[in-house]
Amino acid sequence: MQVKFIERKMLAQHVWEYCFTPASQIRYVPGQYAQFSFPSTAATATALQEKPYRTFTLSSHPDDNSVRFLTRLDPPLSHYKNLLAALQPGDLMRMSEPLGDVVLPRLATTPLVFVAQGIALASYLSMLTECAAAKKAHAITLIWARQREDDPLAQCIPNNLPLLQRVDFHYPVSVGASTVLPHIQASSLIYLSGSQTFVETLGDDLESSGVSRSRLIYDYYEGYPEL
Ligand SMILES: Cc1cc2nc3c(=O)[nH]c(=O)nc-3n(C[C@H](O)[C@H](O)[C@H](O)COP(=O)(O)OP(=O)(O)OC[C@H]3O[C@@H](n4cnc5c(N)ncnc54)[C@H](O)[C@@H]3O)c2cc1C
Repeated sequence: MQVKFIERKMLAQHVWEYCFTPASQIRYVPGQYAQFSFPSTAATATALQEKPYRTFTLSSHPDDNSVRFLTRLDPPLSHYKNLLAALQPGDLMRMSEPLGDVVLPRLATTPLVFVAQGIALASYLSMLTECAAAKKAHAITLIWARQREDDPLAQCIPNNLPLLQRVDFHYPVSVGASTVLPHIQASSLIYLSGSQTFVETLGDDLESSGVSRSRLIYDYYEGYPEL
């Protein structure tokens, strides 16, 4: 589907929110992602021949009129991100059908532990908005590790969630199993979102500490050594 670029907003140093209007209504579930690509021209075909698209988690909510995602534009930029940085209002991109199963569980009372590294906080924004809008009963612990420069991204976290507990860490303090375990209840689902190394290391540590694999939900952002 075609989407029209509306605007980008700087949310923190090097972190931008991109906003598009879709050509027709897009159905998706909070937490899903989509692949975004540029119209094919000789220039984009050469610059992006290896990988013509990037995947972004939709930070918008399905009831919104726009679709949005967050991304880091920290030089040196890839060819793709250079094109993203040069977008002008009215420019068109293509967005794939939304995909992914990093979504809310059906049972609204399941306690949730959301672990995010830096801008991978984006994975949870639509789900948090859904919990606030639908007054879902999930008790949610959001464990967010980041560099101090990313602090302004906190403005994206809905502030009308009475059952949300935030646990904040700044680098170089790292989040390990011992940080997460105290927040896990017997029926909790634990979501891990960040770089591949962060997610896999933490997931392995939690499994070694006795957390069942079936309670862990992995979401990693390729292309970022750290977030
Ligand atoms: C399920 C899923 C969800 C995701 N959600 C998000 C999201 O919400 N937000 C988000 O930002 N990302 C998300 N990602 C990751 C995203 O798809 C990209 O991989 C990521 O943003 C890095 O893009 P890139 O173009 O910098 O990557 P790459 O092209 O792999 O580049 C990686 C790094 O290499 C260097 N590099 C590459 N090419 C050049 C060049 N020509 N010159 C100089 N340096 C270069 C740059 O330092 C660049 O940062 C998600 C990925 C997955 C799988």
